[in-house]
Amino acid sequence: MSEIEDLYASMGISRQVYTYGSNILTGLRERFDAIDNRAEYNQLKVLKAMQESQVSEACLLGTTGYGYNDLGRDTLEAVYAKIFHTQDALVRPQITCGTHALALALMSNLRPGDELLSPVGKPYDTLEEVIGIRPTKGSLAEYGITYRQVDLLSDGDFDYENIRKSINGRTRLVTIQRSKGYQTRPTLSVEQIGRLIHFIKEIKPDIICMVDNCYGEFVETIEPTDVGADMAVGSLIKNPGGGLAPIGGYIVGKRDCVENAAYRLTSPGLGKEVGASLGVLSNFYQGLFLAPTVTAGALKGAIFAANIYEGLGFPVVPDGSESRHDIIQAVTFKTPEGVIAFCEGIQAAAPVDSHVTPEPWDMPGYDAKVIMAAGAFVSGSSIELSADGPIKPPYAVYFQGGLTWQHAKFGILKSLQALYDKGIVTEEMLVKVCRHVGK
Ligand SMILES: *Cc1c(COP(=O)(O)O)cnc(C)c1O
Repeated sequence: MSEIEDLYASMGISRQVYTYGSNILTGLRERFDAIDNRAEYNQLKVLKAMQESQVSEACLLGTTGYGYNDLGRDTLEAVYAKIFHTQDALVRPQITCGTHALALALMSNLRPGDELLSPVGKPYDTLEEVIGIRPTKGSLAEYGITYRQVDLLSDGDFDYENIRKSINGRTRLVTIQRSKGYQTRPTLSVEQIGRLIHFIKEIKPDIICMVDNCYGEFVETIEPTDVGADMAVGSLIKNPGGGLAPIGGYIVGKRDCVENAAYRLTSPGLGKEVGASLGVLSNFYQGLFLAPTVTAGALKGAIFAANIYEGLGFPVVPDGSESRHDIIQAVTFKTPEGVIAFCEGIQAAAPVDSHVTPEPWDMPGYDAKVIMAAGAFVSGSSIELSADGPIKPPYAVYFQGGLTWQHAKFGILKSLQALYDKGIVTEEMLVKVCRHVGK
């Protein structure tokens, strides 16, 4: 046994599991090289934006109180605007999460009587309450903003005909979710998003096209704002925070759109001028600097997991060879035991709370028990290695993150080991699939 195998063994990974993982990895070298190339491009893109914006030591310090003349905050927003090639950006710790950033972008850019359109089907769960699909206090619906939705076609393509029919005199804003989130539809590529925006703008040029960019940042070398999006919105405890941002969200886009959002976040008239950055700026900068390589590690982990479990006959979305547009990996185990074992393995691999055992529980807002695995430095951060699955058919688990590829790999091997130890995956299965190697 090699030295590293010994160390893996001492951390609970058996020879069978280790060997199976190594065999799978042999077939992924080319794809990993392509990911490294994209990370290199994005690293330079981030660095160039920082240099051109003259990020200085003083930018890393924070302000208190009103936060007037917060050099670091204003410079960081200039850096984001350069990376996303937009006129302006709002990047703040006062934006509490991704949902808040999206709600802010929507509520500030829509007015009573306007209509919101989602041409890509149902939006992310938490947005149902923002929009008022599920009646909620303070929703867009309460303010007289209506909502229309056009589902994707069964082959995953856009339903152009019905999108055209849905656009009317009141359609003010179109929301496009890049990531599949917790659905089974494919994630949209930036290029596909560009085609959709082009189609919509041809029908009605003044529609604001907003993209929910969560989990998509730095996965490709272009972003939705490079293909016509007026706004892109996301969370800093996902990709662009690089694991270091302890809180925050961003909105990048046209000057008007960002100004509307700033006026809503703080106050009409005050906008971006206030909002102390407190002590988080150095984490925002350093996290952004690391984000391209952190995202690359998470992406490798997702591809490794897809191939590990696809090889064993479990349905995976995306499949082992598909091109990737976000960092989420779904694996369907078909039994509650499979979901639970997977999550136990991920938890046992964590740097924090590896000694606790996750259990399914009744989470508010869900109709089944949910099990979650996360041993994160930043609470709830899903750029860190994490997994969750509702305990209901088809018993799928959603897995994402990993601040380093090496940790993602260990987590996936731990998950496989947990399934192996419980007899859900057998030695025979591991041996049999070695013929898949090299595909
Ligand atoms: C995570 C996510 C959100 C919401 O972000 P939170 O930070 O969890 O509020 C919205 N849309 C998509 C696609 C997401 O992945």
